[in-house]
Amino acid sequence: MDFSFSEADEKFRMMVRDFFENEYPREIVEKMARGHSPAKEDYQHSERALAAKGWLAVNWPKADGGTGWTANQKYIFDEELERAGALNVVPMGLLYVGPVIYTFGTEEQKKRWLPGILDSTVFWAQGYSEPGSGSDLASLQCAAARDGDEYVVNGTKIWTSLAQHADWIFCLLRTDNSGRKQEGITFLCIDMTSPGITVQPIITIDGKHSLNSVTFENVRVPVENRIGEEGKGWTYANYLLGHERTSYAHVAGKRKQLADIRATAEAADAGGARLIDDAAFRAKLASLEARLDALELTVLRVLATVAEGGAPGHEASILKVIATELAQDITELGMEAHGPYAMPAFPDSVAPGWAGNTPLPADAAPAVARYLGARAQSIYGGSNEIQKNILAKRVLGLP
Ligand SMILES: Cc1cc2nc3c(=O)[nH]c(=O)nc-3n(C[C@H](O)[C@H](O)[C@H](O)COP(=O)(O)OP(=O)(O)OC[C@H]3O[C@@H](n4cnc5c(N)ncnc54)[C@H](O)[C@@H]3O)c2cc1C
Repeated sequence: MDFSFSEADEKFRMMVRDFFENEYPREIVEKMARGHSPAKEDYQHSERALAAKGWLAVNWPKADGGTGWTANQKYIFDEELERAGALNVVPMGLLYVGPVIYTFGTEEQKKRWLPGILDSTVFWAQGYSEPGSGSDLASLQCAAARDGDEYVVNGTKIWTSLAQHADWIFCLLRTDNSGRKQEGITFLCIDMTSPGITVQPIITIDGKHSLNSVTFENVRVPVENRIGEEGKGWTYANYLLGHERTSYAHVAGKRKQLADIRATAEAADAGGARLIDDAAFRAKLASLEARLDALELTVLRVLATVAEGGAPGHEASILKVIATELAQDITELGMEAHGPYAMPAFPDSVAPGWAGNTPLPADAAPAVARYLGARAQSIYGGSNEIQKNILAKRVLGLP
């Protein structure tokens, strides 16, 4: 396998780097570097800057408004975006429902929903999980009952990221309970302004508000908002989850975090001591750097497989597990590097008493937010335990 990038790829990298250094909004990079949560306007500002360049729908085919880039170019673009400290796109529209719509939607649905994703005017949320259905998603019970040309939706979705900003939500809903639990699930797109929808905030361990519960009470949804066939939603959901899991590597972002940790550890404190001189700390840092190299090679292996005409397959589960475990361990070392400054405060906390009034070095604040936020990575997108079950069964062939 050839892991090296061609001369044309390297030229492409320089063009992308130049954009992020000279054209991308600086205020967003600075806000992210201080550890703040992006506001809806920040996402839109960032995405519109990418859209103006034609670089927003990186993974979409050209015919549907995407870049048509090769796998290598997409990877290089992601690397440069993270290297620059720019904001990742909101995945719900661009990475999740967009590909479902252009793959399984009608021409009318494409015309109706894709432009708003492509110019970042319409926000989407993902309504899959329910209070009793997470890992065992197929057991979901939020129901859509057919009534003439409409479905009537009743039930609750939970852990719905950014639903407070969403104009639309795509949902998996139970339309039939009679067969296997994977059957009788239907994929509906629902206008968040429909009467009967209530969004309740859920504040996470990092004191931030990105999660919500969304309750549907007799919400009427036109049948034309259904993607594909009634009862076949599970097929479309699986297609989408494959897309979701391959998007977790974030190699360049991790490289940047490790470089920041190294720089902090190499700086002397008031008494002249340096954390990097502690052999145990150095060993942990070196181990994480080696694991990141291994992650990068795994990503490049997947890219090479795709470039040679193959499909990534179960590497999506491998990547999800190793990338998210590494993210958690890097943020833990980040906390260690910031030592006594690490815990008391961080930006954007809405939890009472954690309001960020304690003076602390600028780079300590993002360390805490990242550490706490990264705990969720092994849960969302299919928990790591479930990914390990998949690997055990489908890759190792264990019973
Ligand atoms: C930050 C964040 C954002 C999210 N955003 C969204 C979103 O936008 N939309 C959405 O629909 N959902 C979202 N989710 C929900 C997420 O998909 C679920 O949390 C996840 O699927 C796990 O489900 P659960 O929380 O119900 O845990 P459970 O399924 O109850 O699992 C609890 C624990 O048991 C383990 N477990 C369960 N079954 C097995 C098994 N068979 N073998 C071994 N271990 C098992 C799990 O690994 C986990 O550790 C989000 C979650 C988080 C944390």
